[in-house]
Amino acid sequence: MILVLDCDNTLYPASTNLMALNDAGIAGYITNVLGIPPAEANKLRLEYLRKYGTTIAGLIAERNVNPDEFMDYVHSYDVDSLLKPNPRLREFLLVVNVPRIVFTSANRAHTEKVARAVGVHDCIDAIYDLKAVDYIGKPHPHAYEKILADFPGKRAVFVDDRMLNFPPARKLGMVNVWVDEGYQPPPSDITPALSVFHDETRSLVERSSDCVDFTIRRIEELADIWPQVVEKAKAK
Ligand SMILES: [Mg+2]
Repeated sequence: MILVLDCDNTLYPASTNLMALNDAGIAGYITNVLGIPPAEANKLRLEYLRKYGTTIAGLIAERNVNPDEFMDYVHSYDVDSLLKPNPRLREFLLVVNVPRIVFTSANRAHTEKVARAVGVHDCIDAIYDLKAVDYIGKPHPHAYEKILADFPGKRAVFVDDRMLNFPPARKLGMVNVWVDEGYQPPPSDITPALSVFHDETRSLVERSSDCVDFTIRRIEELADIWPQVVEKAKAK
Protein backbone atom coordinates (compact mmCIF):
# COMPACT_ATOMS: atom_id res chain seq x y z
CA MET A 1 0.00 0.00 0.00
CA ILE A 2 1.03 3.60 -0.51
CA LEU A 3 -0.16 6.80 1.19
CA VAL A 4 -0.64 9.73 -1.20
CA LEU A 5 -1.08 13.10 0.50
CA ASP A 6 -1.92 16.43 -1.06
CA CYS A 7 0.16 19.38 0.21
CA ASP A 8 -1.77 22.67 0.34
CA ASN A 9 -4.77 22.83 2.69
CA THR A 10 -4.15 19.16 3.50
CA LEU A 11 -0.79 18.95 5.30
CA TYR A 12 -1.88 22.06 7.22
CA PRO A 13 -5.35 23.48 8.05
CA ALA A 14 -7.04 25.54 5.35
CA SER A 15 -7.84 28.12 8.05
CA THR A 16 -4.21 29.23 8.02
CA ASN A 17 -5.31 30.87 4.74
CA LEU A 18 -1.86 30.33 3.27
CA MET A 19 -3.59 30.06 -0.09
CA ALA A 20 -4.34 33.80 -0.01
CA LEU A 21 -0.59 34.31 -0.47
CA ASN A 22 -0.68 31.86 -3.37
CA ASP A 23 -3.51 33.80 -4.99
CA ALA A 24 -1.63 37.05 -4.49
CA GLY A 25 1.43 35.45 -6.10
CA ILE A 26 -0.53 34.27 -9.15
CA ALA A 27 -2.19 37.67 -9.53
CA GLY A 28 1.19 39.37 -9.09
CA TYR A 29 2.79 37.22 -11.76
CA ILE A 30 0.06 37.91 -14.30
CA THR A 31 0.11 41.64 -13.57
CA ASN A 32 3.82 42.30 -12.96
CA VAL A 33 5.48 39.78 -15.26
CA LEU A 34 2.93 39.51 -18.07
CA GLY A 35 1.84 43.14 -17.77
CA ILE A 36 -1.89 42.39 -17.70
CA PRO A 37 -3.97 44.83 -15.58
CA PRO A 38 -5.51 43.30 -12.38
CA ALA A 39 -9.13 43.47 -13.59
CA GLU A 40 -8.25 41.57 -16.76
CA ALA A 41 -6.04 39.16 -14.84
CA ASN A 42 -9.02 37.74 -12.94
CA LYS A 43 -10.96 37.27 -16.18
CA LEU A 44 -7.99 35.46 -17.62
CA ARG A 45 -7.73 33.19 -14.57
CA LEU A 46 -11.40 32.29 -14.84
CA GLU A 47 -10.98 31.55 -18.54
CA TYR A 48 -7.99 29.28 -17.84
CA LEU A 49 -9.74 27.55 -14.93
CA ARG A 50 -12.65 26.71 -17.22
CA LYS A 51 -10.52 25.63 -20.11
CA TYR A 52 -7.56 23.92 -18.44
CA GLY A 53 -8.47 23.31 -14.78
CA THR A 54 -5.61 25.48 -13.46
CA THR A 55 -4.18 28.92 -14.14
CA ILE A 56 -0.71 27.58 -14.83
CA ALA A 57 -1.91 25.10 -17.47
CA GLY A 58 -3.50 28.01 -19.34
CA LEU A 59 -0.44 30.20 -18.99
CA ILE A 60 1.78 27.45 -20.39
CA ALA A 61 -0.59 26.68 -23.27
CA GLU A 62 -1.48 30.21 -24.30
CA ARG A 63 1.16 32.59 -22.96
CA ASN A 64 4.28 30.50 -23.34
CA VAL A 65 5.03 30.94 -19.64
CA ASN A 66 7.99 29.04 -18.18
CA PRO A 67 6.33 26.88 -15.50
CA ASP A 68 9.37 26.73 -13.21
CA GLU A 69 9.74 30.51 -13.25
CA PHE A 70 6.01 30.91 -12.57
CA MET A 71 6.12 28.44 -9.68
CA ASP A 72 9.14 30.09 -8.09
CA TYR A 73 7.46 33.48 -8.33
CA VAL A 74 4.11 32.33 -6.92
CA HIS A 75 5.61 30.36 -4.03
CA SER A 76 8.24 32.88 -2.96
CA TYR A 77 6.40 33.76 0.28
CA ASP A 78 7.44 32.64 3.73
CA VAL A 79 5.35 29.79 5.19
CA ASP A 80 6.94 29.59 8.65
CA SER A 81 4.99 32.50 10.09
CA LEU A 82 1.64 30.82 9.28
CA LEU A 83 2.32 27.11 9.78
CA LYS A 84 3.25 25.28 12.94
CA PRO A 85 4.58 21.79 13.67
CA ASN A 86 2.01 18.99 13.84
CA PRO A 87 3.45 16.40 16.24
CA ARG A 88 0.42 14.07 15.92
CA LEU A 89 0.82 13.93 12.15
CA ARG A 90 4.54 13.35 12.54
CA GLU A 91 3.98 10.53 15.02
CA PHE A 92 1.51 8.87 12.61
CA LEU A 93 3.75 9.18 9.56
CA LEU A 94 6.71 7.77 11.47
CA VAL A 95 4.91 4.52 12.28
CA VAL A 96 2.59 4.08 9.29
CA ASN A 97 5.04 1.76 7.52
CA VAL A 98 3.96 2.40 3.92
CA PRO A 99 5.60 4.69 1.34
CA ARG A 100 4.54 8.27 2.15
CA ILE A 101 4.11 10.39 -0.95
CA VAL A 102 3.15 14.03 -1.40
CA PHE A 103 1.20 14.69 -4.61
CA THR A 104 0.79 18.41 -5.28
CA SER A 105 0.08 20.96 -7.96
CA ALA A 106 2.67 23.23 -6.35
CA ASN A 107 6.42 22.84 -6.84
CA ARG A 108 8.96 20.80 -4.91
CA ALA A 109 10.56 23.76 -3.12
CA HIS A 110 7.19 24.91 -1.73
CA THR A 111 6.28 21.35 -0.69
CA GLU A 112 9.59 20.96 1.14
CA LYS A 113 9.07 24.31 2.90
CA VAL A 114 5.59 23.25 4.03
CA ALA A 115 6.75 19.79 5.13
CA ARG A 116 9.57 21.34 7.14
CA ALA A 117 7.26 23.90 8.78
CA VAL A 118 4.79 21.16 9.73
CA GLY A 119 7.67 19.02 11.01
CA VAL A 120 7.26 16.06 8.66
CA HIS A 121 9.98 16.66 6.04
CA ASP A 122 11.88 13.55 7.13
CA CYS A 123 8.70 11.42 6.99
CA ILE A 124 8.16 11.90 3.25
CA ASP A 125 9.52 9.28 0.84
CA ALA A 126 8.68 10.98 -2.46
CA ILE A 127 7.26 14.22 -3.80
CA TYR A 128 5.29 14.31 -7.03
CA ASP A 129 5.02 17.98 -7.87
CA LEU A 130 3.51 19.46 -11.01
CA LYS A 131 6.79 19.05 -12.87
CA ALA A 132 6.98 15.34 -11.98
CA VAL A 133 3.61 14.77 -13.67
CA ASP A 134 4.61 16.70 -16.81
CA TYR A 135 2.66 19.81 -15.69
CA ILE A 136 -0.60 17.92 -16.16
CA GLY A 137 -1.81 18.02 -12.57
CA LYS A 138 -4.84 16.84 -10.60
CA PRO A 139 -7.58 16.11 -11.48
CA HIS A 140 -6.20 14.89 -14.80
CA PRO A 141 -5.90 11.07 -14.66
CA HIS A 142 -2.39 11.26 -16.13
CA ALA A 143 -1.00 12.54 -12.84
CA TYR A 144 -2.48 9.70 -10.74
CA GLU A 145 -1.49 7.07 -13.30
CA LYS A 146 2.08 8.31 -13.28
CA ILE A 147 2.36 7.74 -9.52
CA LEU A 148 0.69 4.33 -9.58
CA ALA A 149 3.02 3.23 -12.38
CA ASP A 150 5.96 3.78 -10.01
CA PHE A 151 4.38 1.51 -7.38
CA PRO A 152 3.08 -1.43 -9.41
CA GLY A 153 0.54 -3.66 -7.70
CA LYS A 154 0.17 -1.36 -4.68
CA ARG A 155 -3.15 -0.16 -3.28
CA ALA A 156 -3.25 3.59 -2.71
CA VAL A 157 -4.86 5.82 -0.12
CA PHE A 158 -5.43 9.32 -1.49
CA VAL A 159 -5.87 12.27 0.89
CA ASP A 160 -6.91 15.69 -0.45
CA ASP A 161 -9.02 18.73 0.42
CA ARG A 162 -10.38 19.33 -3.07
CA MET A 163 -13.50 17.39 -3.95
CA LEU A 164 -12.88 17.55 -7.69
CA ASN A 165 -9.68 15.55 -7.25
CA PHE A 166 -11.45 12.37 -6.07
CA PRO A 167 -13.23 10.91 -9.14
CA PRO A 168 -10.03 9.97 -11.04
CA ALA A 169 -8.62 8.43 -7.86
CA ARG A 170 -11.77 6.36 -7.37
CA LYS A 171 -11.61 5.15 -10.97
CA LEU A 172 -8.07 3.94 -10.35
CA GLY A 173 -9.15 2.05 -7.23
CA MET A 174 -7.73 4.40 -4.62
CA VAL A 175 -9.33 4.84 -1.19
CA ASN A 176 -10.31 8.49 -0.90
CA VAL A 177 -9.99 10.53 2.29
CA TRP A 178 -11.39 14.05 2.20
CA VAL A 179 -9.87 16.62 4.56
CA ASP A 180 -12.61 19.16 5.13
CA GLU A 181 -12.21 21.72 7.84
CA GLY A 182 -15.37 23.50 6.72
CA TYR A 183 -13.35 26.68 6.36
CA GLN A 184 -14.53 29.51 4.10
CA PRO A 185 -11.69 31.84 3.16
CA PRO A 186 -12.41 35.58 3.38
CA PRO A 187 -13.31 37.17 0.03
CA SER A 188 -10.43 38.29 -2.17
CA ASP A 189 -10.03 39.87 -5.59
CA ILE A 190 -10.35 36.47 -7.24
CA THR A 191 -13.48 35.44 -5.23
CA PRO A 192 -16.08 36.64 -7.81
CA ALA A 193 -14.28 34.80 -10.62
CA LEU A 194 -13.89 31.67 -8.49
CA SER A 195 -17.55 31.70 -7.45
CA VAL A 196 -18.53 31.72 -11.13
CA PHE A 197 -16.25 28.71 -11.64
CA HIS A 198 -17.68 26.97 -8.56
CA ASP A 199 -21.26 27.52 -9.75
CA GLU A 200 -20.33 25.98 -13.06
CA THR A 201 -18.69 22.98 -11.43
CA ARG A 202 -21.23 22.52 -8.60
CA SER A 203 -22.93 19.47 -10.09
CA LEU A 204 -19.53 17.94 -10.77
CA VAL A 205 -18.55 18.59 -7.14
CA GLU A 206 -21.80 17.03 -5.91
CA ARG A 207 -21.21 13.94 -7.99
CA SER A 208 -17.60 13.86 -6.80
CA SER A 209 -18.77 13.54 -3.18
CA ASP A 210 -19.91 10.00 -4.01
CA CYS A 211 -16.25 9.19 -4.50
CA VAL A 212 -15.27 10.03 -0.91
CA ASP A 213 -14.67 7.01 1.35
CA PHE A 214 -13.76 8.85 4.57
CA THR A 215 -14.02 12.46 5.76
CA ILE A 216 -11.81 14.03 8.41
CA ARG A 217 -11.47 17.63 9.60
CA ARG A 218 -7.71 17.61 10.14
CA ILE A 219 -4.94 15.54 8.59
CA GLU A 220 -3.80 14.14 11.96
CA GLU A 221 -7.21 12.40 12.33
CA LEU A 222 -5.93 9.98 9.68
CA ALA A 223 -4.32 8.16 12.61
CA ASP A 224 -7.75 7.52 14.17
CA ILE A 225 -9.36 6.07 11.04
CA TRP A 226 -6.26 4.29 9.69
CA PRO A 227 -7.37 0.72 10.60
CA GLN A 228 -10.67 1.21 8.68
CA VAL A 229 -8.79 2.82 5.77
CA VAL A 230 -6.44 -0.17 5.54
CA GLU A 231 -9.38 -2.58 5.66
CA LYS A 232 -11.13 -0.68 2.87
CA ALA A 233 -7.97 -0.66 0.75
CA LYS A 234 -7.55 -4.41 1.18
CA ALA A 235 -11.17 -4.97 0.11
CA LYS A 236 -10.71 -2.99 -3.14
MG1 LIG B 1 -5.05 21.08 -1.64
